[in-house]
Amino acid sequence: MREKTIRIAGLYDIYEKIRAGERLSREDGLKLLSCRDLLALGWLARLVRERLHGRRVYYVINRHLNYTNVCENRCRFCAYWRAPGDPEGYVVSPEEAVKRLSEGPPPREIHIVGGVNPELPYSYYLELLSALREAFPGAALKAFTCVEIDHLARISGKSVEEVLLDLKEAGLSCLPGGGAEVFSERVRERLFPRKIPAERWLEVARTAHRLGIPTNATLLYGHLETPEERVDHLLRLRELQDETGGFLCFVPLPFLPEKTPLRGEVSAPTGFDDLRMVAVARLLLDNIPHLKAYWVFLGVKLAQLALHFGADDLHGTVVEEKISEASGGREAEALSRTEIERLIREAGFEPVERDAFYHPVN
Ligand code: SF4
Repeated sequence: MREKTIRIAGLYDIYEKIRAGERLSREDGLKLLSCRDLLALGWLARLVRERLHGRRVYYVINRHLNYTNVCENRCRFCAYWRAPGDPEGYVVSPEEAVKRLSEGPPPREIHIVGGVNPELPYSYYLELLSALREAFPGAALKAFTCVEIDHLARISGKSVEEVLLDLKEAGLSCLPGGGAEVFSERVRERLFPRKIPAERWLEVARTAHRLGIPTNATLLYGHLETPEERVDHLLRLRELQDETGGFLCFVPLPFLPEKTPLRGEVSAPTGFDDLRMVAVARLLLDNIPHLKAYWVFLGVKLAQLALHFGADDLHGTVVEEKISEASGGREAEALSRTEIERLIREAGFEPVERDAFYHPVN
């Protein structure tokens, strides 16, 4: 019956490849991305997801720290940044960061990202990590995107490798996945011309992987990018993963235009597009082990559904995520362990609490 559905959806050739464990091509990716039979896509993605993870869905007790909103990059899609000197700009000191994160259950992972702030010295970043490592020895510090690492190399006059080694010495465990947005020079010129280009992002990630620092990867979709650019982005990640094996998880991020200058110019992705993107990513990224349903951007209900479309990670408990909140994010600020486990169980999966490296805990 399901095979018949797949055949009617025109995806039987792709199904046969998936069943045989063959890699999908760019053309396959484009075909999947234009498919309107969402359930057929979901069924294919679940085949892969269950082959990798069975019924397991991971989550982590984590906290977010957005240490500054001052940023010199001024990306057009971003509602979070403030110019240097703006009264709404802020910087969280290392002491304040420790104080804030001490409230609530002890985190296993602290997710740390911020703007590219020209007023912060290199020493701030090292002091921030050292203070957090000392205060939370049981937490992995997942800190600074490839964009921030590039900025640190520029302000310190050091190489990316030297910066990463300094940060590692101060407590860095792994890097989050943001900053690349979409690997398209055309879109970069229009939306984020001051940000590093794709080649540099990939170079920073490659260096981190070589030093034994795993990273995540993201795709910001639903703005000006074409289906071809989405697929090419995924394939470039897949290519680097073949080379290094350093990506832990892929995180599709729907663009939230409401509070950005692009409001009125582009519409937010629909739930259909969100679920299709999750499924296509699971099918194309055959070498990245985990795929996250990031409820902070997707909303809790859609993130729960995404577990049936290829996702195996429901992220974490999160408290205070400022970037999506500034963009009109779809959700509240935190979920408890009980709530996360209920969402996973109700969807028919088995919750597995993890650490930052996807090792089960408890
Ligand atoms: Fe700055 Fe990041 Fe926002 Fe771009 S997306 S303006 S780099 S905070």
